[in-house]
This record gives sequence, structure tokens and C-alpha cells, in this order.
Amino acid sequence: MSVTQQSLSQQAIDLENEYGAHNYHPLPVVLQRGEGVHVWDVEGKKYYDFLSAYSAVNQGHCHPKIVNAMHEQAKTLSLTSRAFYNDILGKYEKYASEYFNFDKLLPMNTGAEAVETALKICRRWAYEVKGIPENEADIVVCENNFHGRTTTIISFSNDPVARDNFGPYTKGFIKIEYDNLSALEKTLENNKNIAGFLVEPIQGEAGVYVPSEGYLEKAKALCEKHNVLFIADEVQTGIARTGRLLATCGNCNCENKDCSGTPEVKPDILILGKALSGGAYPVSAVLANDPIMKVITPGSHGSTFGGNPIAAAVAMAALEVVREERLAENAFALGELFREKMNDYIETSTICKLVRGKGLLNAIVINDSEDSDTAWNICLRLRDNGLLAKPTHGNIIRFAPPLVMTEAQLLACVSIITETLKEFEK
Ligand SMILES: *Cc1c(COP(=O)(O)O)cnc(C)c1O
Repeated sequence: MSVTQQSLSQQAIDLENEYGAHNYHPLPVVLQRGEGVHVWDVEGKKYYDFLSAYSAVNQGHCHPKIVNAMHEQAKTLSLTSRAFYNDILGKYEKYASEYFNFDKLLPMNTGAEAVETALKICRRWAYEVKGIPENEADIVVCENNFHGRTTTIISFSNDPVARDNFGPYTKGFIKIEYDNLSALEKTLENNKNIAGFLVEPIQGEAGVYVPSEGYLEKAKALCEKHNVLFIADEVQTGIARTGRLLATCGNCNCENKDCSGTPEVKPDILILGKALSGGAYPVSAVLANDPIMKVITPGSHGSTFGGNPIAAAVAMAALEVVREERLAENAFALGELFREKMNDYIETSTICKLVRGKGLLNAIVINDSEDSDTAWNICLRLRDNGLLAKPTHGNIIRFAPPLVMTEAQLLACVSIITETLKEFEK
């Protein structure tokens, strides 16, 4: 790397440090361009992207079909606000509702907004349909959840970094252990005022924790028994990431029959974001059937940008790409291969303890204490070796490449990862 080249990266980093709030701690790499599974830095070095913007870029960087849809719509009509109708929102709502097998969709922009929307729908439903006394509805959530960054959402986080000194916190949430059915059962039995159960089918941010087989189905059955809404946050796990269109694939209409063991759960409320736009634009959505969605009435909820024409065009194209390119099937097959190859390596490894995940949402656990910087240092070396990933929590590294990857590319990436890990073996 020459001195001028180095200074290009450093200039960009210095600018962010000086003029941007310090709410992130990025890996030191400055990206300039992306295409498919690759990104390039300002010095022209090429990398495999193994984070995919936290699974927003499932369809690959700058997918031509998505970019074209955005470009065409941007030239035609970008924003009307919902004060008026536009000629594409309804088409998108029909397309996405049928795609995921729900009656209706409520469009928002970011994942956190969609989670907030789901919580509001759930509370309204509690008072207006279930009949819980005013202001007494509780929503059950899981420990180590990640649902976004708003004041209400961080109120039920247990991550001190996300939460400390942002109080007072929003009331009405009960936290139970993830993947613990008896905790859920006890909570539902002991409290008549529970409106919903909000859960991630796999806890991505927490470190790609996959619950026990049958957990989601049984949790859904418990919710049904107690007339409680099962709310699936599939912002990260959805849109083919885990080898099905949805990780709770009861609604997914997916043609992939090659993935037995995937839970067939139909959430009452489904939350999507991230890859709903293929990473091209902030697009999120809440889907539900009429008896639930009807609690939303004119004026009761909204967003200036939610459901804007560009978002509608982009989301339709992004969902078409998932079907046309059979991304769920590809994620399923490559995920099996990835874990098989990583497990082969781990058998003889002391630095890497295990690999876990579904489809192409995976993580490895590094054999060191949670507050060590080993995982961070491994990510720096992965970067040097042409692959970008980042620790989630402490000693866990998430691997989530775009789903448009080929088998040959995946095997090349496994080599980069295992060769890098070898540098850290004791
Ligand atoms: C990323 C994420 C969110 C929040 O999405 P934003 O677009 O960052 O607001 C919510 N839930 C899950 C599971 C996520 O992974």
C-alpha cells in the first residue's frame, strides 16, 4: 500500500471521526463500490462481503434489476406522502401480501419503525379485540433480543451499551429467557393481560443463536392457546437468508422442499426490513391478516416516507429477484456446505470452538474470553486477506454473505477463513 493510497482511507476515517457522532466502531476499511458478493475499498482492493449490511444486501450489491427499478421510479415519481394515493403502492402491497400470504401490509422505512408499528398494532388489538383493560397490556420479549434502537425498543433490551442512561424506559414488557418454553408457558398462564410475544426466529445480533428444534412451533401453539399474538421479527432472518423465504416459513410460499426441520410457523404479525429492498433503500413492512390489521385506522399511524413510490418499486424488484434467482434454495445449499467445511476445520482447531446457523446466517465462536480482542483481530486479518466480517458480541464472528454467491466463491471464502484462523492457532 503506498502512502497516498493509505491516506485516502485515513482521510475518510478522520472525517467521520471528526464530524460524525461516534455511535459506531467500524472495522478500519473504507468502501467505495459494490457489485454482487464483492465490495472494493478506496484503494481498489477487492473483498468478499461477509456481513451484507447485516443481511440487507441478500440480493447482492447494486443488483441491476433493483437499481433499474429505483432509477426508473425516481425519474417518474419519488414521493407524494400518504396524503394522496399513488399508482404503485397498491401494486406493491398486493404483491408482497400474496408473496408472504397475509391479507395486508403496512409500509414503513426502517426495521425499528416496523417493530414499533407491530407493537402498536399488538397493543391496539389487546384493547379493542382481546379486551385487556386500558393501559394494562403486556408484551413478552426475550433476553438478549435485538429489535432496533428507539426508546421503546431499547427499554426491553438487556444490553447495557444500548440502554444505559436512556431512561426513563417504556413500560409494558416482560422479558423471559430465549428458547425456554416453560418460561413462556408460566408467563402466559400467570398473566391474563398479555397481548403478544415478540421473538426473533434466530437471534442474529446476539450471536446467531438458533433455538432448539420445535421451539417456534410450540411457542406459537402456546400463544394460540392463550389468545396472544405471535410476532416474528424477521428483519434479519427473512427474505431467504436462512434457506427459506422466512425462518418461520409457514407463510413463505417457498418452493424449496429440500429443508426439512425448518419450522412451519405462521406468525400473527410478521416484521420485515433490511433485504426487503435488497439494501438499495430503507424499506420495512408489517404484515398481518385483517382481524389484526383492522385496528389501524386513519390517523392512528403513519410515516411521511412509508410506502413511497421508490420504496414500492424497489421492494417489488427485490422480492422478484429472490424468486427468480432462487436465493432461498441457494442459501440453503451453500449454508449446509459452509457448516460442513467449517466443522471439518474445527475438528482440529483450538482457536475456533464451533460454527452454528441456518442457511447463510452463521457464526463461529472463538475460543477466548468474551472481552478479549481476538475476534476483532481475526476480523482485521480477514480484511487483509480479502474478506469482511465483524464480531457480533465479544468472541463471536457472524458470517452472512450475499445470497447470490456461487459454490466456487463460497469454497474460496472458506479457504480465506480457515487460512486466517490458522494464523491464530496456538
Ligand atoms: C436490524 C434489525 C432491526 C432494526 O432495523 P433498523 O433498520 O436498523 O432499524 C430490528 N430487528 C432485527 C432482528 C434486526 O436485525
